[in-house]
Amino acid sequence: MEQLILAKCGEIVLKGLNRSHFDAILLKNLKSSINDLGRFDISLAQSTVYVRPLDDADMDEVFERTCRVFGFAAVCRAYMCEKTMDSIQNLARECLCDVLEEASTFKVEAKRSDKRFPLKSPEICREVGGTLLERFPHLRVDVHHPEVTVTVEVRDFGAYIHAVRVPGAGGMPYGSNGRACLLLSGGIDSPVAGYMMAKRGVQLTGIHFFSPPYTGERAKQKVITLAELMRAYCPGMKLLVVHFTEVQEAIRDHCKEEFFTVIMRRFMMRVAHALEKRTHSGALITGESLGQVASQTMDALRLTDSVTDSLILRPLIGMDKDEIVRISRKIGTFETSIQPYEDCCTVFTPKHPRTKPTLRDIEREEANLDIDALVAKALEGIEVIR
Ligand code: ATP
Ligand code: MG
Repeated sequence: MEQLILAKCGEIVLKGLNRSHFDAILLKNLKSSINDLGRFDISLAQSTVYVRPLDDADMDEVFERTCRVFGFAAVCRAYMCEKTMDSIQNLARECLCDVLEEASTFKVEAKRSDKRFPLKSPEICREVGGTLLERFPHLRVDVHHPEVTVTVEVRDFGAYIHAVRVPGAGGMPYGSNGRACLLLSGGIDSPVAGYMMAKRGVQLTGIHFFSPPYTGERAKQKVITLAELMRAYCPGMKLLVVHFTEVQEAIRDHCKEEFFTVIMRRFMMRVAHALEKRTHSGALITGESLGQVASQTMDALRLTDSVTDSLILRPLIGMDKDEIVRISRKIGTFETSIQPYEDCCTVFTPKHPRTKPTLRDIEREEANLDIDALVAKALEGIEVIR
């Protein structure tokens, strides 16, 4: 039985004149995600991408990877045969055994894009339905609420049959909606924030702030592992590791403790803003969620925002922790995120942070620092991890 995979395009079908731009990126992403599994004939017709293996390929793996490509609403496995009624009937009897033995009701749908095929769609349905009832006598036809819908498609290059669709990854093709820098800590939230924006088609570069010797090699390794896990969704994502020790020591030595966190976050934004420009990105992304900690109140967020004119995307802003954890488990980053290594945010944390610091407070403290020199220093010696 020759197998193929059908992937139904999602939201990009709503695009108008620029649709072909999104289609091209979607096809390129799918190709590069299965490239190492063999040679394939990949074509797009009527909002469906057809993936036919040209030699022996591990189709389970092709299916899994296709399910992870952003831009598809649904994915299914199909079986292919010659365009004759005999072959179609034989294939129908064979290819769906697992599914039909478990079901009690079904219906058949037919699509005939090859109009030269001698039978019309209702006739194809009737013939295939009859064959299936003979082969699986426990089944009943239910045209309104069938447990299984068997689809037969007759197209130019052959006929195929499929029945089970699973949801695709959804979203927009990765890279079709610009680039942004993700502030990636070792925690639960930021990989989820990155996933959500990648799903909207944004190509990511990770930025991690690292403060040796206060944060250790294992903490850095954890973030590198998170970036590797994220590459399943964000192919080729680079990680920039910024050495942040001097900035943090300067804040510790020259500013009041109750303001440390907000001042440190303002420095992160200044450095990230410079890296946004360097990487030709259009936004910064953080994993902040309103009210989660003292530095994520509205007042604190406004103070963090006000040091740059970057567009700051916070896809988790309205989400609860348990919703974030659920996504983190789904995308496979949770177990790594909960490893107990320190983050630079936990170095020199104030015992009693001010939840409502004013801009005047912060600027008074920052006047004790040479901001430009500290930012320039942090921008030197950035490590790039591919
Ligand atoms: P997370 O689970 O992502 O660590 P959090 O709830 O611990 O989030 P904070 O530590 O206050 O929150 O950080 C808020 C956001 O700031 C993070 O989601 C991340 O985007 C960014 N951030 C924090 N620490 C770092 C870091 N060391 N490097 C890069 N970005 C960071
Ligand atoms: Mg954190």
